Amino acid sequence: MRLGIVGAGQAACTLIAELIRGDFKGDILVFNGETHAPYQRPPLSKNWLKTSDDPTSLRLLPEPLETHPSIQWIQTSVQSLSPDQGLVTTDQGTYSVDHLVLATGTTAIKPSIPGLASESIHVIRTLDHALRLKKSLEGVTNITIIGAGFLAFELASSLADPSRTIRILAKGIRALPQVAVKTADRLVDQAPASIRVGVEIERFDETTKALVTNHGSIPTDLVIAAIGAQPNAELATACGLGSSDGIPVDEFMQTAHPKVSAIGEVSLHHQPHLNRIQRIESISEANDSASVCAKRLLGHPEPFQTIPWFWSDQGDAKLQIAGLCDRTDEETCLIESETELVMIRHQGQRVTAIEALNSAKEFMAARRLLDQGDLALDDLLQAGSVFARLQSSRS
Ligand SMILES: Cc1cc2nc3c(=O)[nH]c(=O)nc-3n(C[C@H](O)[C@H](O)[C@H](O)COP(=O)(O)OP(=O)(O)OC[C@H]3O[C@@H](n4cnc5c(N)ncnc54)[C@H](O)[C@@H]3O)c2cc1C
Repeated sequence: MRLGIVGAGQAACTLIAELIRGDFKGDILVFNGETHAPYQRPPLSKNWLKTSDDPTSLRLLPEPLETHPSIQWIQTSVQSLSPDQGLVTTDQGTYSVDHLVLATGTTAIKPSIPGLASESIHVIRTLDHALRLKKSLEGVTNITIIGAGFLAFELASSLADPSRTIRILAKGIRALPQVAVKTADRLVDQAPASIRVGVEIERFDETTKALVTNHGSIPTDLVIAAIGAQPNAELATACGLGSSDGIPVDEFMQTAHPKVSAIGEVSLHHQPHLNRIQRIESISEANDSASVCAKRLLGHPEPFQTIPWFWSDQGDAKLQIAGLCDRTDEETCLIESETELVMIRHQGQRVTAIEALNSAKEFMAARRLLDQGDLALDDLLQAGSVFARLQSSRS
């Protein structure tokens, strides 16, 4: 079999690794639309941004896999697909494949700000974005980050410096709406940035070098937008297999076309834990969906059924979340100390997620318990900690 993979990010690399480990009998053509060898994205907004200039430390695939003889790397963007004929067209030529896996990820959204050219607004989605941001920092004293999610707070921590003032501007009514209010409050308190919510940006004033907003003028030398990303689904959409919401797939990562699969954060599928169809942007989604696809291509299909998890480093604070919840889910505090915080997110008695701040032990226990099945709020409260609940489930 000749397999074509479009994209060489997290999901593509996990797929490659699992296929090679599973002794895949065939050739793998990987179309990499970026100029760099596959790299990890999470460090781009974390410690790497602060401390390193060396892209090789971000390498995603170990050497024996990257240079494996069954892989052919094609360093260019795919321009179009013809699934029926199994054709992939690039500016370097047209390639014939038996099956295609779309692992095209997402593109960062840039806001339009009158008075500020789009190129002047930074985003962080690729290694080139991060390298460009690093170069632009010299002499900058006022940094404005638009958006108040995990990425914004990670960037604030990584860019913190006594010579700089960092401001986070949120359109919504609160920062970090993905997590419990108590978790968000902790992270907001620790952030090396001032945070304003309910902000509407009118324009950039070149004369005063300030963003004009409903909260007054905000001095700004450099703007970073961290307001989300949109799925790279154009190739699939052109073949009737996707839309601006992503690429729909079944629980085996198969699109509506038998010769096309989709994995990673571009894929749109039923999330058993949430019991609804949702696209998820996280490493766990990229790895788990790739793993499901690999098993199917290796001839022993297993449906997607894993529990999502997520982490975010904000300076010295490490937030880890097991499970996934709706923003409206109830929140109950399980552990609170000066350094640690463990919040339970739940719908009545059903625990949907555990947020663990600086508590890797609680997070690991939560993952194990959620993997075992439904978890009840009262059981956790009675046990006093997730770890204690895990221990009691074993005895
Ligand atoms: C700065 C940053 C920090 C993050 N931090 C975390 C974190 O702490 N925890 C966490 O769980 N997740 C984090 N994420 C999210 C995580 O990195 C992504 O969810 C994950 O990389 C998604 O993997 P993917 O393979 O679906 O997409 P990607 O890794 O984005 O890979 C997609 C690739 O496809 C390529 N491509 C697109 N179109 C084409 C085409 N036509 N031809 C060829 N190639 C194409 C793209 O250029 C890209 O290289 C972070 C992301 C970023 C950007």
